[in-house]
Amino acid sequence: MGKLIKTQPVHIIFQGREIVFGDGRVALIAGPCSIESEENLLQTAQAVKSAGACFLRGGIFKMRTKQDSFQGLGLSAFKFVGTVKAAVGLPFVSEITDPRQLSDFVESVEMFQVGSRNMYNYELLKELGGLKKPVLLKRAFAATVDEWLKAADYIVKGGNNAVILCERGIRTFETTTRNTLDLNSVAYLKAHSSFPIVVDPSHGTGRPELIGPMSLAGVAAGADGLIIEVHPRPPEALSDGHQALNFAQFDSIANNVRKVAQALGREMVKI
Ligand code: PEP
Ligand code: MN
Repeated sequence: MGKLIKTQPVHIIFQGREIVFGDGRVALIAGPCSIESEENLLQTAQAVKSAGACFLRGGIFKMRTKQDSFQGLGLSAFKFVGTVKAAVGLPFVSEITDPRQLSDFVESVEMFQVGSRNMYNYELLKELGGLKKPVLLKRAFAATVDEWLKAADYIVKGGNNAVILCERGIRTFETTTRNTLDLNSVAYLKAHSSFPIVVDPSHGTGRPELIGPMSLAGVAAGADGLIIEVHPRPPEALSDGHQALNFAQFDSIANNVRKVAQALGREMVKI
């Protein structure tokens, strides 16, 4: 076995409070796939915070496979984000799909998400490397761990060390699940890289009934956090409704995650 490398935690200050990824605790990020309305975002933020989430997610610009699928609300979502963050007190992460969006994002997000389809967008990675804000770098669905780490280097070499990797499943021959959630990568990266790692069991499975078990497995494999899609009424969601959890389902999973974390001597990140 090669030399073990210690995780370098990423610290985020929001409203005077500190959220840390990678110090041994488990952080829960949750929210809708796409932001659809202020009301939905507000209800979801309140529900996930009271269940124990310390970070809100929500897509504004969506990378959809089909051109006529809902593409996200775009710029008009930013005003809801500000209101909801102030009302609920959760920091916010959202996917940036193009460097031209930077000036709109920079005031509204505590962390940038780079989506699976953009892991190879080196110009975008270089831009984010020039900033001081954390980046949640998702694994491309056909990327090796080595390619993923090399993508992270584009951000780090630009001067931004605050990279958190996100395992969101890879494409395999298996069709029962949307992707195959590669938890090998989590255990591997905990041993051999310094980046905190978050597991996305929503995209990793594409099936709500598998999100609970794979959340627990992710934490048991050493993940520093989870990112989970939650919607007030999943069947009505404009994107990824098939894999979204309702509030009660998320609450129950968060309770079980806490128990597994405690069994491993780990605490939850609280805000
Ligand atoms: C998402 O987080 O909603 C998303 C599109 O994820 P990915 O880039 O992993 O497909
Ligand atoms: Mn999604």
